[in-house]
Amino acid sequence: MHINYSDKELLVLKKISKAAQELNVPVFLIGGFVRDKVIGRATKDADIVCLGDGIVLANKVAEKFHPKPYVAFFKNFGTAQIKLDEFEIEFVGARKESYNYESRNPLVEAGSLEDDQNRRDFTINALAVSLNEKDYGELIDPFNGLHDIEQKIIQTPLDPLQTFSDDPLRMMRAIRFAAQLNFSIEAKTFQAIIDNAERIKIVSQERISDELNKIMLSSKPSVGLDLLSSSGLMQIVFPQMMALHGAEYVDGLGHKDNFYHTLQVIDNICIHTNDLWLRWAALLHDIGKPATKRFEEGHGWTFHGHEVVGARMVPKIFGKLKLPMNEKMKFVQKLVELHLRPISLTKENITDSAVRRLLFDAGEDIDALMMLCEADITSKNKQKVKRYLQNFELVRERMKEVEEKDHLRNWQPPITGEMIMQTFGLAPSKNVGIIKDSIREAILDGIIPNSYEAAHQFMLQKAAELNLLPV
Ligand code: ATP
Repeated sequence: MHINYSDKELLVLKKISKAAQELNVPVFLIGGFVRDKVIGRATKDADIVCLGDGIVLANKVAEKFHPKPYVAFFKNFGTAQIKLDEFEIEFVGARKESYNYESRNPLVEAGSLEDDQNRRDFTINALAVSLNEKDYGELIDPFNGLHDIEQKIIQTPLDPLQTFSDDPLRMMRAIRFAAQLNFSIEAKTFQAIIDNAERIKIVSQERISDELNKIMLSSKPSVGLDLLSSSGLMQIVFPQMMALHGAEYVDGLGHKDNFYHTLQVIDNICIHTNDLWLRWAALLHDIGKPATKRFEEGHGWTFHGHEVVGARMVPKIFGKLKLPMNEKMKFVQKLVELHLRPISLTKENITDSAVRRLLFDAGEDIDALMMLCEADITSKNKQKVKRYLQNFELVRERMKEVEEKDHLRNWQPPITGEMIMQTFGLAPSKNVGIIKDSIREAILDGIIPNSYEAAHQFMLQKAAELNLLPV
């Protein structure tokens, strides 16, 4: 097996080999780095396992570089890390693991290379490369990981039921690798995920969400999301998503399956953006549909207000999944809430005022919103798709015209609350808010232009109505 290392990697590996030889400690490259090299995928971190003390080896390796890199070490775990520019190398002694039922954190003892390969989650992650003089560069592949890479298969080296029961996070990892690498999960391995799904409850939410985010960042998240659904994991970790499943029929009238529609919207948006949160907005855009679903006699299925209900669900979902409760969540919430607005602008007789209001409400996220709306078109009818896209193109043009005229993007009020208080000698009070809001509304409705002079004049008028005089 020939592996293509960069010059820099080759130099580093040689130094590691030399240092280990001086310590008389067998050493191997192992895990994801080897997997990614074989696949030809970009790599950044390398794991080194030795039959000895990983921290001692890391220090010996560091001495071979000038200037000597900093060695970060974690005595409790017996691991050490060196960073050479962007290349991160982790050193650890080979280990054998044993689990108890309550925890995914194993008891660890020193072991052989074989023990260390046995404890790996998947055959494709158990590949090792010798860095020892006698067989330098040779691949050690006890579980036919190479074959599984060629066949694009994910399976566990040992009994999958035991492997997943020991550390249930591996179930999320299996699905994440399937999504990232576009591999399939071998049948017995997948059945073992189904059988162990409940065990995911012993894993911390942070680790689960890390994997979920990696699935969301893959090029076709639908692959991973569908596997999460069919394995039973999604029902446990993200039940709101499962509620989107299914299409109901009454009097021959049905609606689309919102789960598969959502997956398609995500895949659509992933062609255009790597932004994790915009992808999350796509995932959650219809999350309010199950709660708002109604059948209207003679009309069919409706989901009135699902964007508002969905937006309200966003903080709850983010909280439960321990995703950041900051401006990222607000961004997702805003997009969910606004995702129907550009569609309503494709109807006839749209006023400038409606366009202005959307520009104002979406602010700097208007491009993200338009991207979401375009991704939301999942009709199989090519003519329809074309027509919808053309409609959005018209909306974009209208927005551009209005924007050029009124400059509402990243709008700042031409008259601030501070100015109002000073002009009329007011303390912070209800009237300040009333005047400020009325100026904003007048601008958005096109009653006055978006300029200081006009807003100032309008403020005086509005204040007079409230019996306020300038001081
Ligand atoms: P990525 O870097 O894309 O997350 P990776 O496979 O390198 O993928 P790491 O989490 O860095 O993932 O783990 C490095 C290696 O450690 C893996 O390739 C695998 O051999 C092993 N490993 C990691 N997590 C587990 C686990 N939960 N159970 C068993 N082996 C694991």
